[in-house]
Amino acid sequence: MTNDTWGQVKDALRNSVGQNNFVTWIEPLEFVGFENGVAEFQVATSFQGDWVSRNFGEQIKYQIGKQGHDVSRLIFSVPRRKTAATKLEAPTRPPKKLATIPPGTADALLGAPLDKRFTFDRFVVGKPNELAHAAARRVGEGGPVTFNPLFLYGGVGLGKTHLMHAIAWELQERSPELKVVYLSAEQFMYRFIQALRDKQMMDFKELFRSVDVLMVDDVQFIAGKESTQDEFFHTFNALVDQNKQIIISADRAPGEIDGLEERIKSRLQWGLVVDLHPTDYELRLGILQKKVEGYRAQYKDLEISDGVLEFLAHRISTNVRVLEGALTRLFAFASLVGREITLDMAQQSLADILRASDRKVTMDEIMRKTCDYYNVRMSDLLSPKRSRNIARPRQMAMYLAKHLTQRSYPEIGKRFGGRDHTTVIHAVRKIEELKAQDSQVAEDAELLRRMLEA
Ligand code: ADP
Ligand code: MG
Repeated sequence: MTNDTWGQVKDALRNSVGQNNFVTWIEPLEFVGFENGVAEFQVATSFQGDWVSRNFGEQIKYQIGKQGHDVSRLIFSVPRRKTAATKLEAPTRPPKKLATIPPGTADALLGAPLDKRFTFDRFVVGKPNELAHAAARRVGEGGPVTFNPLFLYGGVGLGKTHLMHAIAWELQERSPELKVVYLSAEQFMYRFIQALRDKQMMDFKELFRSVDVLMVDDVQFIAGKESTQDEFFHTFNALVDQNKQIIISADRAPGEIDGLEERIKSRLQWGLVVDLHPTDYELRLGILQKKVEGYRAQYKDLEISDGVLEFLAHRISTNVRVLEGALTRLFAFASLVGREITLDMAQQSLADILRASDRKVTMDEIMRKTCDYYNVRMSDLLSPKRSRNIARPRQMAMYLAKHLTQRSYPEIGKRFGGRDHTTVIHAVRKIEELKAQDSQVAEDAELLRRMLEA
């Protein structure tokens, strides 16, 4: 492999890793040579080498292979002053003083790269996340620190990482002089252990205490990891004392993270704690619409039939990541076969995802929610009473049971006080008829369905 080939490999990598990663991690690699299937690169620090190797190693190898070179291993070496390059495997003595790290690389060395898609622009705001979004916006504006830390929590895929990156982008744009560091708690631990191993704790402390804004993602990760927690706690306190902004995320509220020391739990609650609620239908639809806008640029003449996005927003309610994945697959599929995206296509090409995210609504839930909704008693629902104010909710519950569960007519009848299956058939038809004529019934059915599927 020659320098030219490496140039071509780099071009390919620029596409596959994205511009931001490319500039931060790939571009600085200095190609040294290629021999016996081993490609060697020079890097500024062992951390940089480690990072590239862990995160982009496979992609680099793959792209070199595509250029026709059999590559089995990558080596990232750190120059030792002016003498020959030192292999990473050998214990190295990375630069001792902060000053020896080239300007601007300190943040990159400390933190993780930011995803360029995770900006405020691309974050769709809805009821479930409006508070978290507002708080993130506020912190992103910079200025005096009003709540410290900002603690964001919520389930998987609800946008915690997206919001944190968006804050970082925003701060970097408004105040480029600020040292903003984003990393996951896992990376924090990794850096900490590395510093211990390399006897670089002084540097580690100094580096982390010199940031202006520190963001630690998925802090639940350090639960049960005592010395990492300890170090985190000290870093945290040092920064708060200097009035530096801290932003933390976790999958649960601070008080609910088992294995986290009490003093840390309470310290984390000092600032503003906001949660991201599970998405609702409107938010999911909004996110899909936003994504489609983005795709339009890429696949210009792609058409989507009416109702497809609504269908996806309705059926995939678990997690935004899954929702996005479904859309990506659908677009890839449609561009492959060169056809409009239809409901049929969605159902077929996403069968596995749809099946996996089918929420199992139980008969019991249906009966309880329907009783609550119409304010009738369960015993009435099951009784032989036929007065309208009881019969209608009962029919509605049967209708919902038919549509939201896999139960057969006889099974449903049995659960509703041992009724005959023809009664159930009649009830389902009745509600279908009424839905078409009476907007109140249609609305009741829709609301109940949403509540049950939420
Ligand atoms: P978390 O960190 O909470 O697990 P992420 O921030 O990684 O979740 O979000 C998962 C995916 O869903 C990302 O691709 C993100 O862009 C997207 N996403 C989540 N919420 C929203 C939203 N409100 N608007 C746009 N995209 C979102
Ligand atoms: Mg995350």
